[in-house]
Amino acid sequence: MTLDPIDARALHDEVCVLDLHADTAKLMDRTGYDLAVEHERRLPSFLNYAGHVDLPRLRAGGVAGQFFGFWTVPYPERGCAHSVHRQLDAIDRAIEASPREITWALTSADVRAAKARGQVAALGGIEGGQALESSIDGIEGFARRGVRYVGLLHFSANAIGAPAKGRGADPDRGLSPFGIEVVRELERTGVIVDLAHINRRGFFDVLEHSTMAPLVTHTGVTGVHPHWRNLDDDQLRAVGARGGAVGIIFAPRFLGGAGVEAVCDHLTHIIKVCGEDVPALGSDFDGFVIPPVGLEDVACMPNLTAALSARGLPVRVLEKILGGNVLRVLDEVPPTSWLAAHPVGDA
Ligand SMILES: [Zn+2]
Repeated sequence: MTLDPIDARALHDEVCVLDLHADTAKLMDRTGYDLAVEHERRLPSFLNYAGHVDLPRLRAGGVAGQFFGFWTVPYPERGCAHSVHRQLDAIDRAIEASPREITWALTSADVRAAKARGQVAALGGIEGGQALESSIDGIEGFARRGVRYVGLLHFSANAIGAPAKGRGADPDRGLSPFGIEVVRELERTGVIVDLAHINRRGFFDVLEHSTMAPLVTHTGVTGVHPHWRNLDDDQLRAVGARGGAVGIIFAPRFLGGAGVEAVCDHLTHIIKVCGEDVPALGSDFDGFVIPPVGLEDVACMPNLTAALSARGLPVRVLEKILGGNVLRVLDEVPPTSWLAAHPVGDA
């Protein structure tokens, strides 16, 4: 049975749809972007690189949970940790303003409970280890505020390692001794490692020094479109072997195609290489991406579900791609018990 977009939207009421990465918090902090207000959907263009996510459109798309990625400039001396806290403040304020609409979530149970109450679940992630400012001391505080993953690299080398491309990129540079310390502290606090943006050497170094299920929150795959930003099949298999998940980005320049079908190509390639327990969604909405045609904003998510269904994927597999695999990783890397004893907002 193939789902049309209306059936697909109805399916979203039954299953948890989760997106692993949107940069909306930075917009909220910098420009006062109001998450509670519905913003106009614009046609994909070089001008339409932000304003893809808000509460009315998360609801329209049937999205149960949105991970907000907190990115910072690569200059720790300018206060990267402070910038992350400001972005967390922005989400806190949005939740205070619309408590019946949105709530923090840390676990799969939190996401499911929020959905049952009719709320969107907000989850946090950091993009770029410069936010740690060369010390592991801040990780626990970030975790207490709702950060569930830390992406070790962004577009510049930092104290942890080197990016796949960008300032300080070096294919021979792996994880630094400080990076190993960071991975251990993430493990202790129950924060998931995000391997998006890190170079290949660092990618495998992290897997060698950790036991947790990793995420790659927003990426494409080289098996469909060779690109420095994408993961090759060996990397996909390594994430799968560790019980992790890989979110496919909605950015044509990494996908190699500008429509919904390009996203489907990358998701189905992951299934072919390492099985149905790995693929996930990582839009990178509001992150300077020009979205594919048909996925112009978060309200368009049912179009993707319908397109995947048209490829013959059964509902059981759709459920995993749309959010089930991410919920499993949240369960595999639970916030440590002392954090669970202090729910978000109670710290
Ligand atoms: Zn990114």
